[in-house]
Amino acid sequence: MIRQRTLKSIVKATGVGLHGGRKVTLVLRPAAPDTGIVFHRVDLDPPLTLPADPYAVCDTRMCSGLEKNGEKVGTVEHLMSALAGLGIDNLHVDVDAPEIPILDGSSAPFVFLLQSAGIEEQKAPKKFLRVKKPVEYREGDKWVRLDPYDGFSLEFSIVFDHPAIDRTATSVKVDFATHSYIRDVARARTFGFMQDVEFMQSNGLALGGSLDNAIVMDEYRVLNAEGLRYADEFVKHKVLDAIGDLYLCGHPLLASYTAHKAGHALNNQILRVLLEDREAWEVVSFEQPRAAPPAVVHQFGDALPAQA
Ligand SMILES: [Zn+2]
Repeated sequence: MIRQRTLKSIVKATGVGLHGGRKVTLVLRPAAPDTGIVFHRVDLDPPLTLPADPYAVCDTRMCSGLEKNGEKVGTVEHLMSALAGLGIDNLHVDVDAPEIPILDGSSAPFVFLLQSAGIEEQKAPKKFLRVKKPVEYREGDKWVRLDPYDGFSLEFSIVFDHPAIDRTATSVKVDFATHSYIRDVARARTFGFMQDVEFMQSNGLALGGSLDNAIVMDEYRVLNAEGLRYADEFVKHKVLDAIGDLYLCGHPLLASYTAHKAGHALNNQILRVLLEDREAWEVVSFEQPRAAPPAVVHQFGDALPAQA
């Protein structure tokens, strides 16, 4: 059986919130089968519970946030990406601020945190959302689509017309039948432009943004002294984001995702287009591992995810 997963123990981390610039404490707690990923704003009295839900997604301009009763948890996508990558189905996420800490701008610190807590397989079959027919969403020259596929792959292309980005590969395909989330995706950092950071900070946004949690560029070059972590780190980060955004539907997808110039807003729209077409998807599980597609066994069949 391909099983649901949670953590073995509670784990805690602190970091800076990208937008508020304040210290944020994050606590990840194991959860029972079929709980899903549930965020808790523990700084509110009473605490507010916000389950991962594509219809609760708000404010997709710079990050993906969830909103309920006028309160938010922002910047959930990198943590959601790490949870999807390690196959964590059930988790309570306590946070004492309106955003998840940005850490180093990638999902690698979340992966480290999850591995430190240990991953536990549960006595319930993992539920996948299988895409049965193609769905597509377009906005001008940006588009995103999902096609049926017995596994999970993502193909992304970007156009920035910036010398530092154009020097790198601007398209990539990641297929988890052969790629490893931890090795090939997790370390890709978010990126931004110096003039945007200055403008945002003068408007009270991105107050926690720095060279410690993003690739920052001026008009010509990358300003981070250490350079890039992957030769194609920019487009890889878009894949990392898409994995996190798509996981807000509550289940891993069995689908191939293709996107051009898309971002958080389009990733959310394609989930809504998919879910609203009842013919386009079904929830499946694999009681017998032999019945699971090889790509699913490769990604989720081991007791623990591959270490590299
Ligand atoms: Zn991101």
